[in-house]
Amino acid sequence: MSHAPRRAVLVAAFGSPCPYCGEPMVGPDRWPTRDHIKPRRFGCTLDDASNRAVVCEPCNNDKGSLTLRRFRNRLRRVGDARANRVHAFREWHKQRLVSPMS
Ligand SMILES: [Zn+2]
Repeated sequence: MSHAPRRAVLVAAFGSPCPYCGEPMVGPDRWPTRDHIKPRRFGCTLDDASNRAVVCEPCNNDKGSLTLRRFRNRLRRVGDARANRVHAFREWHKQRLVSPMS
């Protein structure tokens, strides 16, 4: 896969809200990045469109190699306001896997 379409996805996401924290994805502290919804350690790649999300860099770093469920649980434990948004995103993503839109 060439890198051009990937860059286009990130450029298109610039300024739109991060699905995990809801803040606009703009530099220098919140660049859009590509997240593996299911982590690479499960053998999941970004070639599967249903496994891709564009999220801000800090959220991507915080999520690390966690699943959405574990990321949400960790945020809840520390009282991080992103927990509800990550929960909602996870529910939306599960639906999407049942009835793919693309
Ligand atoms: Zn974010």
